[in-house]
Amino acid sequence: MEDILKVEDLQIHFPVTKGVVFKKQVATVKAVDGVSFSVKRGETLGVVGESGSGKSTTGLALMHMLRVTKGRIVFEGQDVTTFSRAQVKQFRRRVQMVFQDPFGSLNPRMKVKDIIGEPLVAHGLAKDRSRYQARVAELLRMVGLLPDMAERYAHEFSGGQCQRIGIARALALEPSLIVCDEPVSALDVSIQAQVINIFKDLQKRLGLTYVFIAHDLAVVRHISDRIAVMYLGRIVEIASREDLYRNPKHPYTQALLSAVPEADVDAECHRAHIALKGEIPSPLRVPSGCRFHTRCPSATERCRTQDPPMREQGAAHSVACHLYA
Ligand code: SF4
Repeated sequence: MEDILKVEDLQIHFPVTKGVVFKKQVATVKAVDGVSFSVKRGETLGVVGESGSGKSTTGLALMHMLRVTKGRIVFEGQDVTTFSRAQVKQFRRRVQMVFQDPFGSLNPRMKVKDIIGEPLVAHGLAKDRSRYQARVAELLRMVGLLPDMAERYAHEFSGGQCQRIGIARALALEPSLIVCDEPVSALDVSIQAQVINIFKDLQKRLGLTYVFIAHDLAVVRHISDRIAVMYLGRIVEIASREDLYRNPKHPYTQALLSAVPEADVDAECHRAHIALKGEIPSPLRVPSGCRFHTRCPSATERCRTQDPPMREQGAAHSVACHLYA
């Protein structure tokens, strides 16, 4: 299968300025700082990391919603970062986003049919009223909702139903790639599984590709083919799902995995939890050397001064850590 998306050395830096009239740059927030990965058509890449790891900023950049400082985002063979306004409009038909907050991302004063149909109108695809209504009904059915819900308002729905509406809206333009930014984090655990199953079912039926962003490894486990672990603006490990869960290499991945509860009570009781020291540092002050060294239980003197490059550790498994030099 060919790569539908290729991200090369992506950097998104934000200047911090001082002064009202003569703005002077005093610092730089390195939100994303040299991220590279690719995604195959029909695949799901899970992107995991704590808040502040740069995963959502990466997602927004994939959607062409942020100015890229450096690097390339190549989608279906074209570098998105060089797109004109007209090209971005076409691009939006091919790439859509599902957001974290199902209530906040939908206008409560709009009827569901208008929320789902808005992209059709914006792209001139609502040819006539009956075809518009038929398409909205079809999209509602695709996400397990009833067509007569089209006449209701978003505020009348539960969180899980609102997220289904958000997915239906994202599907309206028949995209090939959907960037899912923590789409189940705000939902009850029982509802999370239902929504993840909808994503999986739609992928099978429509051949969709997902970049699925989450803050813990439990959520991405059931949907991802491969998983990238991000820390402070970088990918520190990327591997197939099986490999990552069976043989996590980076100390940060190991710590994240140790926080995922086991289904088996016995196994859960005997499992070692790795507690990380402190909080993720500010991207304003990225630590020298390995950026994880301030929290890493295995850090050595070398880690404080030398930035570990990404190294391949077997087929489709790479890690940035001096322990694997
Ligand atoms: Fe820890 Fe050093 Fe590996 Fe960084 S390079 S993850 S500090 S052992």
